[in-house]
Amino acid sequence: MSRIPYARPSITQVEIEYVSDAITNGWGDRCYEYITKFETSFAAYAGTTSAIATSSATGALHLGLAALGIGPGQEVILADINWVATAAPIVHLGAKPVLVDILRDTWCVDPHAVRRAVTPRTRAIIGTHLYGNTCDMTALLEVGLEFNIPVIEDAAEGLGSRIENQHVGSLGVFGTFSFHGTKTLTTGEGGMFVTSDDGIYEKVLTLGNHGRARNDARKLWPTDIGYKFKMSNLQAALGCAQLTRIDELILEKRRIFFLYRELLGDLDGLSMNPEPTGTQNGFWMPTIVCDETLGVSSEMLLRSFDNNGIDGRPFFWPLSSTKLFGDQPSNQISYSVSGRAVNLPSFHQMKESEIEFVANVVRKTVKGVQQK
Ligand SMILES: *Cc1c(COP(=O)(O)O)cnc(C)c1O
Repeated sequence: MSRIPYARPSITQVEIEYVSDAITNGWGDRCYEYITKFETSFAAYAGTTSAIATSSATGALHLGLAALGIGPGQEVILADINWVATAAPIVHLGAKPVLVDILRDTWCVDPHAVRRAVTPRTRAIIGTHLYGNTCDMTALLEVGLEFNIPVIEDAAEGLGSRIENQHVGSLGVFGTFSFHGTKTLTTGEGGMFVTSDDGIYEKVLTLGNHGRARNDARKLWPTDIGYKFKMSNLQAALGCAQLTRIDELILEKRRIFFLYRELLGDLDGLSMNPEPTGTQNGFWMPTIVCDETLGVSSEMLLRSFDNNGIDGRPFFWPLSSTKLFGDQPSNQISYSVSGRAVNLPSFHQMKESEIEFVANVVRKTVKGVQQK
């Protein structure tokens, strides 16, 4: 049996046709057609008035933070459990990421910890919808309102996740999505900036195009030193094709998650991604967390996976443990959960037999430790 990868895009004839069309015809005065179509369709899907396609989610976040004027002497609060992409743009802009603890059940940022971390220097709060799990946006927006601080959504992993039927990414001042090859919808590399704030939309549009305001008759005239974080028409064609299959892509993720849950649900002390009432989880990464009492570490699980030809993926390390972000609060839950959790393989075309195989390896590892 070949190795079971943890992620792999779902590419069909539709994708091949769209990209072939873009590479054949999408030049000259048609060089933006797929980009515009991708942005319009994505905004409609996410429920925002605007969307801007970018070269990555990191780029989208960088643009949004720059548009908010984040800079030296300022602080941005986010969860210690995050991909480094969420923190790096803050550092590049000269501000300080303040890394706070997560909640035990959703593994997303703890709104109480956010509130405690607010200082006069706080300029933004970022909620990351980790592995598809939804942040407590109601609580985060309340903190934001109380201190007049914008709340940003890192929805890179949140495609298909909803809170009271509103798509994540549409609830904060802006949201960012990733279309990296491992994500639920892919353009190879790519991202999307979404917002319903016209002022921020215009700023990001200009900043992302080397500071050139649209409709400026001088055309090659920068009014600001901006950035170049644009998506190509070829990538956008792939994105448009994937978007025609969005429901199917998310349903596959949900099918895989629920099968894992069915197979592992009887194991005491094992938790998986939650889906609280009133929310829908896109389940980008089905994840298991072992209770302390089980004595099973991430390392043990990853070793078993490796021995059985399964591509394991560790849970995110607490960003503060990298020591790249200076002094940070001590975040007990982040450190504890990270040490006893892994993501399970979940590529769309994953067969039932493969899911059963992975679930059995999990079961054997947990039982094996308990028998010792
Ligand atoms: C994937 C990811 C990103 C970055 O996405 P890119 O498109 O690779 O820049 C940011 N945040 C989170 C939480 C992610 O999972």
